Amino acid sequence: MTSGKVRAIAVLTSGGDAPGMNAAVRAVVRMALYHGLQVYGIHNGWQGAVEGGEAIEPMNWWSVGGILQKGGTVLGTARSQEFRTREGRRKAAVNLYRHRIDGLVVIGGDGSLTGARILAEEWPDLLREAATAGEIELPADARPTLAVVGLPGSIDNDTYGTDMSIGADTALHRIVEAADQLVSTASAHQRTFVLEVMGRNCGYLALAGGLASGAHWIIIPEEELKPRWHQEMVASLRRGREAGRKHAIVIQAEGARHPDGLPLSAATVSDILTKQLGAETRVTVLGHVQRGGSPSAYDRILATRLGAAAVEDLLAHGAEQPPRFLGIVNNEVQSTPLVEVVEKSQAVGKCIDAGDYETALTLRGPSFQDQLALLRLLTEVAPKEDTHAGTILVVTAGHDAPGMNACVRVVTRVARDHGYRVLGAQYGLEGLLRGDVIELAWMTVSGWAARGGSELGSGRYLLQPGDLDRLAAVLHEHAVTAMILIGGMDAYQNAEVMAAHYRRYPAMQIPVLVVPASINNNLPGTDFAIGADTALNNIIAAVDKVKDTAGANKRAYVVEVMGYDCGYLALMAALASGAEQVYLPEEGVTLQRLAADAERLRRDFQAGKRLAILIYNERASPAYTTEMIRRILDAEGSGLFDVRSVTLGHVQRGGSPSPFDRILAARLGKAAVEALLRMHDQAGFHTIGLRGKHIVTTELSEALAEIAWPAERPHQEWFMALRDLARIL
Ligand code: ADP
Repeated sequence: MTSGKVRAIAVLTSGGDAPGMNAAVRAVVRMALYHGLQVYGIHNGWQGAVEGGEAIEPMNWWSVGGILQKGGTVLGTARSQEFRTREGRRKAAVNLYRHRIDGLVVIGGDGSLTGARILAEEWPDLLREAATAGEIELPADARPTLAVVGLPGSIDNDTYGTDMSIGADTALHRIVEAADQLVSTASAHQRTFVLEVMGRNCGYLALAGGLASGAHWIIIPEEELKPRWHQEMVASLRRGREAGRKHAIVIQAEGARHPDGLPLSAATVSDILTKQLGAETRVTVLGHVQRGGSPSAYDRILATRLGAAAVEDLLAHGAEQPPRFLGIVNNEVQSTPLVEVVEKSQAVGKCIDAGDYETALTLRGPSFQDQLALLRLLTEVAPKEDTHAGTILVVTAGHDAPGMNACVRVVTRVARDHGYRVLGAQYGLEGLLRGDVIELAWMTVSGWAARGGSELGSGRYLLQPGDLDRLAAVLHEHAVTAMILIGGMDAYQNAEVMAAHYRRYPAMQIPVLVVPASINNNLPGTDFAIGADTALNNIIAAVDKVKDTAGANKRAYVVEVMGYDCGYLALMAALASGAEQVYLPEEGVTLQRLAADAERLRRDFQAGKRLAILIYNERASPAYTTEMIRRILDAEGSGLFDVRSVTLGHVQRGGSPSPFDRILAARLGKAAVEALLRMHDQAGFHTIGLRGKHIVTTELSEALAEIAWPAERPHQEWFMALRDLARIL
């Protein structure tokens, strides 16, 4: 249309498909309808725009129902040669114009986004040409504009302007699952596996997959291979075998190159290992498995946030601003000019082609480089000389959380690498008081990255003043010079008890660091605690199954989830599963609200809805419990629908940790040791956490001041800003 406010928008998915694209499409469509816009879905990417006709479909609220948990993209995607030509783009412009579409959301990789930028730029000219040719009518004084917002849809995670692209986390899930399974068969047969993963010119999937799965060697495109690189690889894997490792996993990015710049195949790597290491080597090329399956919780939420933000951006800025791109940076939506995104996204590939690996690695950013350095350290087989730098004691405290083992593994190896001796307390603080302490050697923690629960053993226990003599004696006996507590609120409170009394005990005058690990994500000083992402994925997997049970009856399910006083799991699960309602401890539950919810359910079921999901945090209300709500709503639904309840319970904390939790655990574990080193044996009590993408250390007292006692959760919770989004969608 002419410049001004956007009235009708279209959404398309283009390029390689990526899990989570559907969540983005759903958010775009529903947010647009919520704001009273006309909204179209364009099938098969740019090709659908070129073809027009049925490929451009008007969407309503229900056209995007039930797609949140589906992999791939319901709109379809295609590569379009025609759209690369001006003639093709003119056809597309005419088709969009005929529907009065003046805003466009494009979800795809840098190719698709380039197409969007070019179309927006040529838009006025294309339409004028079409008008001159008599294909459309355009008033002589019209100044047509097309407002464009691009979103990152690519498993490769190679798009500039965002910390994560839609689909990358799910692809990591598939890679880590595959690697875990290879480990189990490889150990049985003493085999070596080469696992080839996708990513084009980007080594992210190989690096993050390697870090999360505890791979023993990785090969990525951004790192220049030395002429004799294979000897280094073989020597490292041989050291591993001699140290008792029963298997080896090499993860190779599809874009890896020989030192001469030509592509390096997994088969070549396998040949080298067979000949030089004498290992029985097998190649697994994961291929499209990585794009498959239901999107992870993270991808669903990321895509939902970006899709909704895209519509708000179109409404706020229309075509007044040049085409832009929305990504997630520091856990917040950030806008970047599309031109810049495309240019910088392609820069790394160009550097690699030109043999400038140093710049390629620099462009990937500091966090990529840090993780690469960490992976290299972890895959070393033995620490440097024991320099008797001191003794670090590791305790997993409170309820166990998935990812605790990954954290202990990294703490052990990083500390040993710095010349420390590392000890682990068995069965948490209670075990420590009994003197249950074991040595954590480099190979003790081999294979721990993938294991759920806590290998050391954990348990709830709050130190009493009477325990302190005993605690000091144990610390003294083992010459402990620093302590790391990994756990939830228990860990913080126990550290607080120590902080209150340490002056009386020389053995307690040491640096103490608390690492946040709790599925509840209710801890201060961090946006994310280790374990919460796994729990969230466990919840949505269960809710997806509940949804599948929809039978002949119209039914609502009240699904009770954990979280203690914190609504994180409930709210995020609601967003990621498309739940109708969510009950949070931050808000409480009132009878008035329940009446309104019952009324709304009646309306929806009358209108044809067959199934509704209501997520209830275990402590949302002392009065209106899960069972009480079930009964109230069931009574109100009489004749029309019935209500069942499902309590997920400990299933939520079980299973193998998610890739995100393993990587978070690794990063926090490394940072915890480094923080201790900076304290030079000085007494002090601190916590470590992730804020945005930065790791921060906070004084324990300051962190505990964030808590809204008696409720065990911080006053400020970043995720509550997503409450309205859940309500609207
Ligand atoms: P991705 O979006 O995942 O990078 P491609 O590079 O294959 O995937 O791009 C997807 C589609 O975007 C292409 O098939 C084409 O239709 C369109 N496209 C890519 N590059 C351009 C370009 N330079 N000009 C116009 N359209 C383009």
